[in-house]
Amino acid sequence: MVNSVAGDAAGLGGWRGESMRRAGRVGQVGEGSERHVEGEGCGAMRGDQEERYERQLRLRELGRAGQERLLAARVAVVGAGGLGSPALLYLAAAGVGTLGVVDGDRVELSNLNRQIMHRTAALGRAKAESAAAAVESLNPDVSVRVHRHPLAPENAIELLREYDVVVDATDNLGSRYLINDACAILRIPWVHGSVLRFDGQLATFVRGAGPCYRCLFPAPPAPGAVPGTAEVGVLGAVPGVIGALQALEAVKLILGVGTPLCGELLLFGGLGAEFTRVRVARNPSCPACGDEPQITAVTAGRPEYDA
Ligand SMILES: [Zn+2]
Repeated sequence: MVNSVAGDAAGLGGWRGESMRRAGRVGQVGEGSERHVEGEGCGAMRGDQEERYERQLRLRELGRAGQERLLAARVAVVGAGGLGSPALLYLAAAGVGTLGVVDGDRVELSNLNRQIMHRTAALGRAKAESAAAAVESLNPDVSVRVHRHPLAPENAIELLREYDVVVDATDNLGSRYLINDACAILRIPWVHGSVLRFDGQLATFVRGAGPCYRCLFPAPPAPGAVPGTAEVGVLGAVPGVIGALQALEAVKLILGVGTPLCGELLLFGGLGAEFTRVRVARNPSCPACGDEPQITAVTAGRPEYDA
C-alpha cells in the first residue's frame, strides 16, 4: 500500500505529474520508507496525529492524502547548520516521515547565533546527532537517519538515492556542485539555499522542469574571490528566512501543489526587506542537465567539488 501514496501523483495536476514522471520519481515516493501508510484517503491516522497536524489537514491542498504523502516521504538535508536548522525543524513539524541529516561537523559556540536547532548544552556534540535529537523531541513520527560525515563524491550517489527530495543547506560551493550532479544523475529534485551577511538566495532544481545549478553557475569563482560567512558574517534570521522557504519548497515538491521555484533564482535582501526573482534558462549544452550530458557519474577529483 505504500506505493499508493504517490500513485496518483500525476493526477495532482500541474507541473509535478509531468516533471516528476520525467524525473522518474513517481511511484518511488514512500518506497522503502519505514513507515507503513494506508491507501490514499483511507488512512488510519492516529488520534494524536489528527490533532498534531490539525491546522495543515484543514488546508484544501493538503488534507489526509497529503499528510499521508508527507509521512511517507524521505528528505535529505545536507548540512545541519543555519539553513538546516529551520529546514529540518519545519519538515519535522510537518510530519515528513523520514529525514536524513548529513553533517560531519561538531557544534561550536560561534554556530549558535543562527543554528537554532542546537542548544548550548550540545557544544562539542556531532551536529547530525544534535539535529536528530531536536527533530525527535519535536515529532516522534519522524524517523531520522544520521549521517555523521560530509557529503563526498565517494558517498553522494549511494546516500542521496535513498531520498525523494534533497535540501542543500551547505555552506560551500563544492557541496552544491556535488549535490547538483548527483541529483541530476539520480533525477531527484533538490532545493538550493545560501546566505551571506543580510542576503540570501533560493532556487529549486527539477531535471526536465528547468535549469540546474550548473546552468546558473557553470564554473565556481576563483578561490578566495567570494567570501564566506566566516569572513563577512551573517545575521541568524537570514538563514531562518531562506531555510524556512527551503522547507516550503520541499513540502510543495512532495505534495505536488503550487509552483516550485524552477527556472528562477529568488534573491532576498534583508536590509531592504526585498525579494527579487531572476529568470534563468536551461543551458542545452550544460554538462549536467543538457541535451547530451557529459557528467554521468560523480567522481572524486573533479575540481568543482573542491571549490
Ligand atoms: Zn544544467
